[in-house]
Amino acid sequence: MALNCPRCGSTIQTSPEREWEFKAYHVTRYQCECGDKFNLYASPHKTFTIPRPQALKGFCPSCKTRNPAHAIYCKNCGTKLPITQA
Ligand SMILES: [Zn+2]
Ligand SMILES: [Zn+2]
Repeated sequence: MALNCPRCGSTIQTSPEREWEFKAYHVTRYQCECGDKFNLYASPHKTFTIPRPQALKGFCPSCKTRNPAHAIYCKNCGTKLPITQA
């Protein structure tokens, strides 16, 4: 399974920085080449990533879709994304 950085969208190829358990999830923290760190939450039912709060560029507040950091409009619902200063 390819894992993409929620911030810049590039494929993560580095090994996890650390891993731990959180409730029903196995959490893995990765650091991307762009310097961003994010947590991957994996459970038998659901897998998702949570970027750090300052890494929300491209994140659609309307439908919760993660878009590329350079995106202006959400690829899913077309909402204009908020401009965030990283
Ligand atoms: Zn990145
Ligand atoms: Zn959206």
